Amino acid sequence: MSIPPNQGHHVKRIVLPSGKTIDVVYFSDAVSEIASPRPAGLPQPSGPERDGDPDLHICRECASELVYPTSWEESRARQWRVTLRCPDCEWTLDAVFGQDIVDRFDEVLDLGTEALMNDLRQLTCANMAEEIDRFVSALDAGAIMPMDF
Ligand SMILES: [Zn+2]
Repeated sequence: MSIPPNQGHHVKRIVLPSGKTIDVVYFSDAVSEIASPRPAGLPQPSGPERDGDPDLHICRECASELVYPTSWEESRARQWRVTLRCPDCEWTLDAVFGQDIVDRFDEVLDLGTEALMNDLRQLTCANMAEEIDRFVSALDAGAIMPMDF
């Protein structure tokens, strides 16, 4: 997978009902050109609809489990208006859900955040180890002098 260049992305911060914030990073439009949306009217790939008790992290179009909220606000008591987006097929939905469904979604997002943070920690450690190795090599080679500090 190629990583898009840094330009052409923006970050949107969303405050979840639990008070936590997540940053959603939108990359350039190149991604939406690659993902070809399904024509409307195809049967749902994911079995029977679970009306009233949906898993919000699962895409209703392509069954991806990476659906995330792009906006999230309380509409009435224990009711949340949530806009969802699937990064795999660009499916979106704007609808109102009950507190229980939203709480479950929040838990799934928490698990995703935890997994990402673990990956980030491992990457940071790997990068630091590599940097230390390079520094030691440079010291050994006499390439670092007191005036470098
Ligand atoms: Zn999808």
